[in-house]
Amino acid sequence: MNLNDMIRPEPSIEDIDQAARLIQKARPSYGPIIEFYGQVFIAQEKSRQALELDPILIDSELLKLKFDNGMPLIDPSQFRIDRIRAESLLKTLCSLASNHAPKLASHARKLQAGLDRLDLDLLFQGILENRETAIEKAALDMNMPVHVLMFFVFLSMAPSLQTCASQLAVYLKDSSEPKKGYCPVCGSHPNAAFLDPEGKRVLMCSLCAHEWHTRRMGCVFCDSNDTRLQHYFFNEEEKEYRVYLCDNCQNYLKVIDLRVLNRTFVPRLEQIATLHLDMKAREKGYKNALPGFHDL
Ligand SMILES: [Zn+2]
Ligand SMILES: [Zn+2]
Repeated sequence: MNLNDMIRPEPSIEDIDQAARLIQKARPSYGPIIEFYGQVFIAQEKSRQALELDPILIDSELLKLKFDNGMPLIDPSQFRIDRIRAESLLKTLCSLASNHAPKLASHARKLQAGLDRLDLDLLFQGILENRETAIEKAALDMNMPVHVLMFFVFLSMAPSLQTCASQLAVYLKDSSEPKKGYCPVCGSHPNAAFLDPEGKRVLMCSLCAHEWHTRRMGCVFCDSNDTRLQHYFFNEEEKEYRVYLCDNCQNYLKVIDLRVLNRTFVPRLEQIATLHLDMKAREKGYKNALPGFHDL
């Protein structure tokens, strides 16, 4: 990877707002859901801009060891969370959901009312370390489904993860590591990809939102290059999206073609605007790292 791979600047609040309007215009059926998520992503961006996080440092010996062994820079449990800003974002997300997301509203109000009882640090670590017991216990106590609690907690910690990842990405600039199907920062799976203006494939991490170039062809999940096992589908009306399916590992990957997209690319908004493609891929029997978005 070189510095040219530090791909795009973060979309501004105006970019998010404008892209949300354009998606709503192009796909009226997504109106209310984009309305809600547009505000969620703007709240996350505001929170990200106010974050105070010391960068995670990796000494040169450890860095060499990681590169030599094709390992990601850190384990997800090492991510740092700005707890104060995450908690304040969580409160904002709860009020947005109680006003704009009918299916989440009652849970959002319970969460708001019970925030004092939550051990947020424990929940952040639970998500990062994939330890569901802590989250299950808290969800039971809050009387809400586990995935709903995880949804709120994940969205509130996401700006911290993203900041840590972009701080860590400086370590990757001299790495000549082969381009893998897992995040070079935290080792998580991608939840979508895009084709950059030159047609190169870039993967997006489902956990820390880091973006990295990968090889053009083949399945990024199982490395299969067998063309008989690789298929894709798309709709005539939305040529900017394609869904790649792998019959070797049964995973699918949504790909957004920036050469065809006629609006500013806000990855998280495009993830939402393509939920019908996730549904279609799942109906066909394929799976993907869950993006953490809840059906409203
Ligand atoms: Zn990552
Ligand atoms: Zn595969």
